[in-house]
Amino acid sequence: MSLTLSFYGGAGKVTGSNFLVEGARGKVLVDCGIEQGADFVVEEVYGPFPYDVKAIDALVVTHAHLDHVGRIPKLVRDGFHGKIFMTPATRDLAALILLDSSHILAEEAQRLGRPPLYDENDVEAAFSLVETLEYHTVKEVAPGLSVYLRNTGHILGSASVRITDEEGTAVALTGDIGNSPSPLLPDWEPVPDADALVMESVYGDRLHPPQKERVAKLRDALKRAIAKGGTILIPAFSLERTQLMLYELSNRYAAGELPHVPVYLDSPLAIRVTDIYDKWGATYFKPAAEEEMKREGSLFDFPFLTKTLSRHESDDIIKAPGQKIIIAGAGMSHGGRIGRW
Ligand SMILES: [Zn+2]
Repeated sequence: MSLTLSFYGGAGKVTGSNFLVEGARGKVLVDCGIEQGADFVVEEVYGPFPYDVKAIDALVVTHAHLDHVGRIPKLVRDGFHGKIFMTPATRDLAALILLDSSHILAEEAQRLGRPPLYDENDVEAAFSLVETLEYHTVKEVAPGLSVYLRNTGHILGSASVRITDEEGTAVALTGDIGNSPSPLLPDWEPVPDADALVMESVYGDRLHPPQKERVAKLRDALKRAIAKGGTILIPAFSLERTQLMLYELSNRYAAGELPHVPVYLDSPLAIRVTDIYDKWGATYFKPAAEEEMKREGSLFDFPFLTKTLSRHESDDIIKAPGQKIIIAGAGMSHGGRIGRW
């Protein structure tokens, strides 16, 4: 085989995805994520990359989660000057998420007593190198190496990456794979044409209940909580999870299955991510969801939903009388506005 694949993160443990594919003449990185949570090792995140950054021709990004994009600004700061390829939806989401995380990194750097991993200027410099790439388009991204993206149904814009050399040898990396079927995204696409396939398998040993069952559980839990009175807090990840939650709430209300309790989306990041879902839904949602969008407009809005972008608006939620549902970050119930509710 004339391609060499090296694992520099995201293997043997979760987060920090970073893979290098080398052909006879070109070098391509797939993903450049940051380590998160229990896997966070300061030296591994802040230290130099274990390869010559300046010798890399291109970076291809599977999707916009931080464990796949979180060190891109550092890569550019450290001297990478090739092109960065990703789908248009991933570009919008990744830019937003990286800018958001640069503020968090500034606080973290202060705590660690070192300069931040990157700042807003580094994010801007990184995105000046971005070239968008649609699904199902062959593109030569480095000398002798072509890339082909397929939908993985994980989050909006997510893609598997197949890299092929001049002799036709191919290696494919899936990035994260969606739990299809999703109500919004198309099912993940098979990859039948690679000599070697690297698959994400974080939840590979878990069975998820079918979509219908999960929605019924959510509806019943909300009904019980509403019947008890009081306020309902829903911690949710800003990206994909919040949009799915809004979509299901909107449908349950439209079907008359829940009383009309006011809902607050209390996360500036989630509000902006939802705008990006609205922007790209007609292009990247599954056909049934696209049809729904054409009929109803946004899939994530309903009459008694309030989005609180500013701190001031957020502060007013507590003054609103009666029962309410508050959706806020962070998904793991620490950090974000959920912490103060
Ligand atoms: Zn992911």
